[in-house]
Amino acid sequence: MLQAVGQHVARHGISVLLTSPGAADLSWQSLLDCRIVRSIEERSEREMRATGRRRDIADRPTYTDLASHPVDPPADPGTPHRLELVREGSLEEVACEGCEAGRRTCARCTGNGRLTCDRFVPCDGCGGGIDACWECDGTGRPRRRGRRTDPRPVDGPQRARCSRCHRADAACPKCLGKGRMDCSVCRATGFVECSACRGAGRVRHTECAGTGLFTTWTGAVISHTPDARKVEEPAPLYIRPATDGAGDWRRTILTSATDKLPDDLEPAHRAMIDRHLAVSKNEVGRRVTIRHLPLARVTAHADPDRVYFAFPSSTGIKVLERPSKQRVVRFSAIASTTIAVAVLLLLLVVVVLN
Ligand SMILES: [Zn+2]
Ligand SMILES: [Zn+2]
Ligand SMILES: [Zn+2]
Ligand SMILES: [Zn+2]
Ligand SMILES: [Zn+2]
Repeated sequence: MLQAVGQHVARHGISVLLTSPGAADLSWQSLLDCRIVRSIEERSEREMRATGRRRDIADRPTYTDLASHPVDPPADPGTPHRLELVREGSLEEVACEGCEAGRRTCARCTGNGRLTCDRFVPCDGCGGGIDACWECDGTGRPRRRGRRTDPRPVDGPQRARCSRCHRADAACPKCLGKGRMDCSVCRATGFVECSACRGAGRVRHTECAGTGLFTTWTGAVISHTPDARKVEEPAPLYIRPATDGAGDWRRTILTSATDKLPDDLEPAHRAMIDRHLAVSKNEVGRRVTIRHLPLARVTAHADPDRVYFAFPSSTGIKVLERPSKQRVVRFSAIASTTIAVAVLLLLLVVVVLN
């Protein structure tokens, strides 16, 4: 790495052998990107009931003792998985108690299939009252004290012959003195079909979905749920694109708690990861993906204006340079001095002009 940095320093016209003692300072600032995903298992059991005959439930795998039931560890700890089981011998089909073969008596018509309806409705021409006929008031028997006073306006509608008392020019022309008309809904039969059961008298039992039976069983669920966390040491922002893109990251994957961390990991990073590696409660699988990139920060005494960062890439050691803090401070000092001089000159000009 020092050699590679030496070549960069030489480009600035500074000739120095960085590998000789005291010529350069090198400190490691390696990068780490570690992702840990565990699969956590949970087992639960409860009584179940479903409507109808359930082949899909009968086809489920069975168990006898849930706690000791063997289950394969997850192939991929990052993917959630759910296994549904039926306790051996617990599957039963029981008849529904609220119906017969999925159907029950219609509550609306109490099983008759039809509902009563008035056969007649009041006449909407005379209102169904005494105006039905001015001779007999719609009764068929002419009133003893003669005809009622004609209440109709001069140009009112014509009256008809009464079908009850047979007097001419006396009855409502719509009902001909009857005061009522046939009901159009039941066509004067007195009954209509029950709309709840469409005349059948029986309806589908909703509780058992019309199947007339329930499937009952003791069911268990064994679930594998991923639990992910991240441990990282990212690069400073000003060199991150280069290290993320060109960096030749070293990659290690651990799949069990006994797998060893890579030997070339920095001690600080090893400690950071170690804190997260203890076996969790109900852990049944894990995948620890460790990516790390050795990154050296190099300063050369003969080149105080620059700081160099070196890291391995697919095409050899890559070197990036940044202005040193010292240089940045110097530059800003020069800049402020320049501004101060400019302000003074301006003041001088103003004074002279006045
Ligand atoms: Zn039922
Ligand atoms: Zn009428
Ligand atoms: Zn009449
Ligand atoms: Zn009716
Ligand atoms: Zn009905």
